Amino acid sequence: MDEKITCTLCGEDRLRRYRVPGLPEVFWMCPECESLWREGADPRASTEAYLSVYLESRGLDPARVRPEPVDADASTGSD
Ligand SMILES: [Zn+2]
Repeated sequence: MDEKITCTLCGEDRLRRYRVPGLPEVFWMCPECESLWREGADPRASTEAYLSVYLESRGLDPARVRPEPVDADASTGSD
């Protein structure tokens, strides 16, 4: 699957899957505005979640923690 979902909030970038080191969860995030969709949420719908809020809710400092993109299966070839 290669879904390309444009951020419904800012319309500036496509959503990608990210994960935070040390956390088991994978989520969708817009790298432009840092809106966040939990796994299972509909990324085509609006969201009230943001990366900073998500990190704080897990006791992490948003200034120190950076999510990593999850692109494990898309590393063959380069456009
Ligand atoms: Zn956005």
